[in-house]
Amino acid sequence: MIAIEDFVVNGKPIKNWTISEHNEALDTLGARIYEPFHGVLLLGGGSKPYMLKVRMVKGSEEVETELVDGLACYSAVPFGHRDPVITEAVQQFVAGMATVPRSISHSYLGPWLVKLKEFTGMDMFHPKSSGTEANEAAIKAIRKWGKNYGGKDGKGIKDVPIIISAQNAFHGRGLGSTAMMDDDTSRKDLEPLMPGFVHIPFNNIDALKEAFSKYEGSVAAVFIEPIQAEAGILVPAEDYLHKVQQLAKENNALFVLDEVQTGYCRTGANFAWQLYGLDKPDLITTGKAMSSGVLPVSCLCGKKEIMSLFEPHGEGSTFGGYPFAAFVGLLTIREIEKRNVTKLAAENGEYLQGVLREVAAKHPEKVKEVRGKGMLIGVEIFPKFDGHELSMKMLDHGVYAKETHKTNLRIAPPIVIEREGMDKIAEALDKSLASM
Ligand code: PLP
Repeated sequence: MIAIEDFVVNGKPIKNWTISEHNEALDTLGARIYEPFHGVLLLGGGSKPYMLKVRMVKGSEEVETELVDGLACYSAVPFGHRDPVITEAVQQFVAGMATVPRSISHSYLGPWLVKLKEFTGMDMFHPKSSGTEANEAAIKAIRKWGKNYGGKDGKGIKDVPIIISAQNAFHGRGLGSTAMMDDDTSRKDLEPLMPGFVHIPFNNIDALKEAFSKYEGSVAAVFIEPIQAEAGILVPAEDYLHKVQQLAKENNALFVLDEVQTGYCRTGANFAWQLYGLDKPDLITTGKAMSSGVLPVSCLCGKKEIMSLFEPHGEGSTFGGYPFAAFVGLLTIREIEKRNVTKLAAENGEYLQGVLREVAAKHPEKVKEVRGKGMLIGVEIFPKFDGHELSMKMLDHGVYAKETHKTNLRIAPPIVIEREGMDKIAEALDKSLASM
């Protein structure tokens, strides 16, 4: 077997690189877009599907240890790491793999589309690779629909069709997704961005009503996350999404949900919109967990009358729906169904939120709230405490969980995590809070 760890780079096999040598390469050669924990190096999956094998700096030494994965790659790894079924299937597939573009049909795309229809309830699908690409495709679909069928009379919006999105949202790094977000750091030096986006406060129905009346006849869609994840796991009021959907209908605008992070069982339903008794959204975007975290796979899923507006040569993607993507897409849905992962996410979510709330109750001066749906959970601390410090302390106590913004700790482990793992997360939170 070829071990890439033996590949000599910079004068030594990769396996012998120190953590500071890795950091040096990242800091000097990689664009500074992330700020990874500096003292940890991932070696692979650990002894359980929800564990990570890492090397960590402890004092002046580097030691091998395991961490509970409290993040599941931002929800992309529902079955955890080294799942035997996924691993074996993928190995077998890759051994016989051929990569073809969409101009040749292959054995997996058709069946995957059929399963996607069953699993999402949507009519038609446009597979892509990353979440932001699915959102870019959604923006195109909205614009096309807006130009053709938007407006008060349904005969098309003459000016730029408006998309109403939410403040503090996260939709990814494409330019359309960036325009849909109001975050200054993401938008810096990029103006003029794509026009036609209006940002309103999330979970505020009056703000949405105002926007609809201000831009009357020009709004093509409301495009939001059902639960704002990156913003700090912000769960809206129970009736908010329903009201948004109603307002969109009354104004002949599309109701579009970014389910890239919330979809594929994470919140205890196949998709978060199903938790709220809504009618089917007009479009949803999915990503992350739809490939079990094995490779980037995303999808724009929608109603026929909107998706039919795409034409050959007007949209496309080399790897969207290519054999490997369709294969892992099918495999993921099969395993979700076989293992009843949706129910598991609801049950594990209830347990994990419960133990985290018990910990929070012990530290009322530090924890403002524990909130979430299913296995997408946020622990909000009061602003005088630092979320980054909390995530560093969690690492010291054997759990990888990361802050979002300054005061929220996102906890979203693999859905298949065992009680023992969830108890470890709670214990680490307790010890970390106690030492702050
Ligand atoms: N939308 C949401 C809600 C997300 O959470 C993310 C990623 O975190 C994206 C879109 C972008 O996905 P990707 O990083 O695969 O482009």
